[in-house]
Amino acid sequence: MIDGTGQVARVRAWISERAEEMAALLVRLVASETENPPGRNLAECAQVLGDEMDRLRLDPEIHQVDSTGALKDPRVVRGAVGSGGKVIYFHGHFDVVPAQDRTQFTARRRNGVITGRGTADMKGGIVSMLYGAAAAKDLGLLHGGRVIIHLVCDEETGSTVGSGYLRERNLIDPGALAMLTAEQSGGAIWNAAKGAISMRVEVRGRPAHVGQAFKGVNAFLNMIKIAAPLEAYAHQMRGRLTSYSVGEGQEEGTMVVIGGQCGGGSNFNVVPSRAWFTIDGRFNPEEDLEAELARLTAMINDVASQAGADVSINLTQFAPAADTPPVSRAAQVLGQCVSDITGVPSRYELCPGCLDTRWYAQLGIPAFGYGPGRFEVSHGPEEFVDESELHSVAAVYALFAERLLR
Ligand SMILES: [Zn+2]
Repeated sequence: MIDGTGQVARVRAWISERAEEMAALLVRLVASETENPPGRNLAECAQVLGDEMDRLRLDPEIHQVDSTGALKDPRVVRGAVGSGGKVIYFHGHFDVVPAQDRTQFTARRRNGVITGRGTADMKGGIVSMLYGAAAAKDLGLLHGGRVIIHLVCDEETGSTVGSGYLRERNLIDPGALAMLTAEQSGGAIWNAAKGAISMRVEVRGRPAHVGQAFKGVNAFLNMIKIAAPLEAYAHQMRGRLTSYSVGEGQEEGTMVVIGGQCGGGSNFNVVPSRAWFTIDGRFNPEEDLEAELARLTAMINDVASQAGADVSINLTQFAPAADTPPVSRAAQVLGQCVSDITGVPSRYELCPGCLDTRWYAQLGIPAFGYGPGRFEVSHGPEEFVDESELHSVAAVYALFAERLLR
């Protein structure tokens, strides 16, 4: 057996020989405009991934998935290396949030940085995972175990189609040793992630011409009555602090956005018969998500009934939090791999968003987010990733497979 330092050097060398291929793949993936919502070009991107995985001998299968929602031709891409009973999952998503500008789909590569939609969240992470798995295979690091790759197409809208498919078809083995997802953790290991509640509140009134406004019921004004008290709720939740470590520049409270989107009305000279707004929250793992949903629903319904407003609530996302103790074996092995590759002590943090780790953690599988890029840039107009991070994360993934499957 080769010693730790030798192993790190071999993995590093294998990856650095492929730096150009990795960058080219990321540029190709960015060009596939997989914006979600609404969820388009998913089959096309799945094909790009399948072809690349074929070339890397990662044994790809493209699964067609039924969807009743807006997603067009949803796909799940699976792949595997190695054989035997011990399993590790590398899980990623190839949908991206909508672009601010169409030029974001033409990736720019300059001075070791690649800029474009999805470079950080998380097509860059997919490149790292695929090359990490391929390195583990080529270098014979799998010790009779397997790495299974899962790539889903709807993480940005809750993952229920892609990850839901994996769960329904029993394609996630509860006995797996670990799951990693290469989300943009900025060097931290996300061993915990927040839960999410997203909803859309619809208020109905009665339309009337402005000249006969007295005959109408103004849905907009009723919406304001319902939305305003929710600010106090958001403020209170921000004050309920987590005991998990959070990253630099993050707060310990639960975060809730009231009115991220809103709309309604048919014209300026008509009493609006319809108005709507959204509520979106990221809840600390300590919070009881069911109880918070009930509390929010009750607040909205109480104010609506006092105001005589006709309201309905549409729950668009309900995603439980996830956490894996940092003292677990998988967490410790991952931490050691990160510090051996990067030379920086590893740190365990709570992800400020929610992660697909939950689909695995719910089955008792130790699950972590660790990937290239930074959370702060990931949904913005100047999203980028450092190529050196693509390489170091790929090396961490290969080394993690070797040490955990040993
Ligand atoms: Zn992501």
